[in-house]
Amino acid sequence: MRVSAMRVWKMLKDSFGRIIDYARISLTDKCNMRCRYCIPEEGVKKRCHDELLKFEEIYFLLEILKELGINKFRFTGGEPFIRREAMCFFENLNIGEFYITTNLSADNLDIDRLNNLNLDGINISLDTLNPKKYTWLSRGWYLKGVIENIRNLRVKNIKLNAVIIKGFNDDEIKPLINFANEIGATMRFIEKMDFLKDNLKYVPLDKIRKNLILDNIISEEKISPKNSAAIYHQQSAGKGKVGFIMPISKPFCSTCDRIRLTADGAIKLCLFAEKSLNLRDMLREEKNKDEIKEILTKTAFAKPRAPKINLQTESMSAIGG
Ligand code: SAM
Repeated sequence: MRVSAMRVWKMLKDSFGRIIDYARISLTDKCNMRCRYCIPEEGVKKRCHDELLKFEEIYFLLEILKELGINKFRFTGGEPFIRREAMCFFENLNIGEFYITTNLSADNLDIDRLNNLNLDGINISLDTLNPKKYTWLSRGWYLKGVIENIRNLRVKNIKLNAVIIKGFNDDEIKPLINFANEIGATMRFIEKMDFLKDNLKYVPLDKIRKNLILDNIISEEKISPKNSAAIYHQQSAGKGKVGFIMPISKPFCSTCDRIRLTADGAIKLCLFAEKSLNLRDMLREEKNKDEIKEILTKTAFAKPRAPKINLQTESMSAIGG
């Protein structure tokens, strides 16, 4: 009897030798909020239901990604929890490291079910502690409910993300660190990328980082987890860390280990790159697992080392932030 050769699949690797073991999966490009730096005022383009990957298709792609060595998965959007049945989708996942990025403000968000997901970590957008500013930035949402939800979280590894905007929240660095400290979370500051030409000015964060060291708010020693987009420092007064993500002033491309899957099934090798490949169409053409793995392996090999920053492509909500 002839036994057909089983192909042994290697990990995804690019032409610069970077192993790609982290995937960010967008469940939807829609969001309940309209944060001014993230989503145009008119919202995102309406899509037909069929354009989005179905949950069964995402499960199938996750199996493929796992078999190609991806062991860390982050689900994001848009806002992942506004997709109907997102919680059920999460409850039935069987993956490696499992993370979610959310604004924690979707209507009917069930915090008890979220707490039971056994997440490895959660990132929550929290740009300001001022209720009026929060409502202005998100175009109509309320801070109170989000803070309540944050306080009810029982998830390990909570990170709060604030995009820093000149003259808007650059005076809230210390209060945000204090809040994170109070709830045992890590506070991360992010340089604003100008996807939308929205007149909100970015603040280079390195000077803020250095001043926080001088003020003994954070320790001097840098902590740089493997291939992390952020540089971290220990909070001097608490257990948590403070992180700085500086895509504009200190791009972290050379150690990037991630690929993105957009809600419509496209692979993006880099935040600033065009879409590389549409897996949705392949699935619907009934390509088999090995064919998809072959194409993914070739696509990943072409991941650019340090692309020219191109902010003209799409907003973060469309890419999957
Ligand atoms: N809805 C979820 C949330 O609010 O966290 C997930 C999606 S959101 C696009 C993910 C992250 O992208 C957030 O932390 C947000 O602050 C960040 N982001 C969005 N637009 C950005 C921009 N123009 N510059 C820097 N970060 C941005």
